[in-house]
Amino acid sequence: MSNELFMKMRVVDPVQYVKGVGPQRAAQFRKLGIETVGDLLYHFPRRYEDRRTCSAAAARHGDTVCLEGVVLAGQELKPRRGLTITKLAVHDGTAPFYAVWFNQPYILRQLRPGVRVAVAGKVDRSFGRVEIQVTEWEPAGENMLNTGRIVPVYAATEKLPQKVVRGAVQAALEAAGEGLQEFLPPVVLRRQALVELPVALRQVHFPASLAEAEAARRRFIFEELFLLQVALARRRATVNRTVKPFRHGPDGRLLAALRGTLPFRLTSAQERAWRQVAEDMQRPEPMQRLLQGDVGCGKTIVSVMALVKAQEGGLQGALMAPTEILAEQHYLKLQDILAPLGLKPYLLTGSLDQETRRASLEAIATGAAGIVVGTHALIQEEVRFARLGLVVIDEQHRFGVRQRAMLQEKGITADLLVMTATPIPRTLALTLYGDLDISIIDEMPPGRQPVETFYVPPQGLERLYERVRKEVARGHQVYVVCPLIEESEQLQSHAATELAAYLSDRVFSSCRVGLLHGRMRPDAREEVMDAFRRGVIDILVTTTVIEVGVDVPNATGIVILDAERFGLAQLHQLRGRVGRGHARSWCALVGAPKTPEAKARLRALVATSDGFQLAEEDLRLRGPGEFFGVRQSGLPEFKIADLVRDVKLLEAAREEARRLLDADPDLQHQENAPLRTAIEARFGFTATRLGIS
Ligand code: ADP
Ligand code: MG
Repeated sequence: MSNELFMKMRVVDPVQYVKGVGPQRAAQFRKLGIETVGDLLYHFPRRYEDRRTCSAAAARHGDTVCLEGVVLAGQELKPRRGLTITKLAVHDGTAPFYAVWFNQPYILRQLRPGVRVAVAGKVDRSFGRVEIQVTEWEPAGENMLNTGRIVPVYAATEKLPQKVVRGAVQAALEAAGEGLQEFLPPVVLRRQALVELPVALRQVHFPASLAEAEAARRRFIFEELFLLQVALARRRATVNRTVKPFRHGPDGRLLAALRGTLPFRLTSAQERAWRQVAEDMQRPEPMQRLLQGDVGCGKTIVSVMALVKAQEGGLQGALMAPTEILAEQHYLKLQDILAPLGLKPYLLTGSLDQETRRASLEAIATGAAGIVVGTHALIQEEVRFARLGLVVIDEQHRFGVRQRAMLQEKGITADLLVMTATPIPRTLALTLYGDLDISIIDEMPPGRQPVETFYVPPQGLERLYERVRKEVARGHQVYVVCPLIEESEQLQSHAATELAAYLSDRVFSSCRVGLLHGRMRPDAREEVMDAFRRGVIDILVTTTVIEVGVDVPNATGIVILDAERFGLAQLHQLRGRVGRGHARSWCALVGAPKTPEAKARLRALVATSDGFQLAEEDLRLRGPGEFFGVRQSGLPEFKIADLVRDVKLLEAAREEARRLLDADPDLQHQENAPLRTAIEARFGFTATRLGIS
């Protein structure tokens, strides 16, 4: 292929046509997710090795170095069958040294006396003699990729050695590199002091110094985060331009009545969050707000006020919960709260009997149902709202990432309030919810005492059960959470059933023990929850079905068996089931953690009850991908950015994205056309691939 043809290579061309690649290697590259020239150029090194040439005279024993010199002589030794040692004498102008290879007989033919060679490897220095065991070498010259410089180290496969990847990247840079256009806006480049694209690409792969590599990487980290933030902000901008077909006035009679019937005063954090929500609702464009606050801080009441406000404006409001148990609990609570106002909530879950379901659907369709509580059944096909004005999603992190998108796909221009109790570190919030405004409730209702959290080794179980009995004797209630069996809800439910039988027969025979798990029939489940709420059950043996939202303030103790099997966020949520009233509460973590990580998790939980601190710790321990568990994560995969490390750049990227879109919401300006193309090329047109839907 002529040089001219290479120059015309585009980033979208298949990697197969890069010089030295071909169909077989292209197949290998595909295993690394590399299909095109562009993919290859964006296959960033994992790390670098400093193989800049040093002098033989200065080489120290044990160092890994690179030396370069002229071959003086060579010999081959065969000390025993199957072993060939090739030894070259080389001089680099400062001192002679020996370069040694094992079982590579062709070396002697390739590197004849007089040839210049560069070798990298470990130095063996004894009796003044320098010997280097060669791990990589190449003829010394102008364009060395593997020695004599700072060398990139890539994620490679067995069949794609580093040398091949380096060669291919270099060829791709030569063929397409110069044709690459910068697409980040010039003002952003300037303000953030970023290296320009073609230069940055060369420097990220083949830097002249480690500082140069660092600067180039910084550009690509920023780029990755910035494109995501722009995509998020664009989605937000689309919403902002929508005008709701209705208007809310200031809080009216119903809201005043609601406040009047509450048995408590809102905390100032709740008041602040409410003001933000109410103002959003009164605006012409739809609300897009995340309400964040630690377990038990009182988010529900804020969402109830929003639902009442929607109703006050003659519109319907829907409250969506991730589990039927939580939906049912919300429903019961709303019945109590709304009754004095003369309002009545409706329930819609997957397990309603036909008749109730049909009645609910009809009330929703006619508009008779002003406030509807349910599970994701709420957003299914056949559900038609007459005048939907507000959607509240409770415990949003439990839904996965599709629900918000589904609402939007239904063409609903309602106000949206998303709530989450799983504390999300700021970096993740910006990434997952970059298109939402955030309200934070950072204060607990008065009188709350921190939950006493302690670790119990298996042999301490008897004494712990004694404590449970005492708690019950004082008129309080206790949860016992049975060990996690992730593979199957059926096994899990079975285990809970056995545990409940055992505990009620053998351990707590004087107490009333109840059982709650995910495979129970809905009416049986409701009965148990109701009995527990009324205090007819003392000890509730249960599974993670109670993890989110369940609110029984008289429950003051929770025993978590095999606690080391749960994730940190999950344990914090479970602990949040107690400490919801005025009485002192405790949480016992029973288990025998073996791995350092499991120990660290339990230690962190004992040490702090601050959910945000725990979330940061969790992120550190497990990394962002694992944070919510794979299914729930929905996080985009980053090639080079690291959400733990790159917080500052993420914030800068978000700020720049905002500024950009303030000035050019649709990226219609001529100078932003390359950026627009880059975003669409990278993420496609569907937001789902971003994990931001
Ligand atoms: P979460 O934020 O975890 O959803 P909830 O909304 O379930 O928390 O509230 C936890 C408990 O605190 C509930 O029993 C609720 O009635 C109570 N609560 C909420 N706000 C206040 C307040 N301002 N003062 C006293 N108790 C409150
Ligand atoms: Mg809640």
